[in-house]
Amino acid sequence: MHSPNSRRKIAIFPGSFDPFTVGHASIVERGLPLFDEIVIGVGVNENKRALYTSDRRVEAISRLYAHEPRVRVEAYDDLTVDFARRCGASFILRGLRSVKDFEYERDIANMNHRLTGIETVLLFTEPHYSSISSSVVRELIAFGKDVHDFLPAPRPEADADAR
Ligand code: ADP
Repeated sequence: MHSPNSRRKIAIFPGSFDPFTVGHASIVERGLPLFDEIVIGVGVNENKRALYTSDRRVEAISRLYAHEPRVRVEAYDDLTVDFARRCGASFILRGLRSVKDFEYERDIANMNHRLTGIETVLLFTEPHYSSISSSVVRELIAFGKDVHDFLPAPRPEADADAR
């Protein structure tokens, strides 16, 4: 728990991250100069059929950021604004890939702001990542295709630690 007087700028980056792609990693990297801390929130949605369990997603993403003390990863299964409050976050970080994302993001951002005053910070996806989505990557995995271009590479020292 964080004190309500904390001046630290904390953002949550919520999503399904099934799996976490290079597009997601780019949003985290570009968010780091804006915030003191980013909590990646792996949303657990019982109604969505997931490829990876939430534990596995949390573990894989945590490994990617093991070297970055300003990034934490947690699973949550309640409302995103309640997760944000638990994290002491005043901001929600999201990526915007296209006009398809726009209306959805706007409606949720407006509702979250109305409920709690939390601000959503949207970053436009870098063009070369805009066609990458977890659902496309899942589809490719299901058909046995190589997806390593779309997934962030683990840092070499993280590999060494795991051995
Ligand atoms: P959700 O199911 O909540 O949309 P996702 O895991 O698909 O969760 O996405 C989480 C966030 O990451 C969303 O804000 C989404 O727009 C953003 N995002 C997804 N793919 C990309 C990408 N290729 N580049 C940048 N942002 C992305």
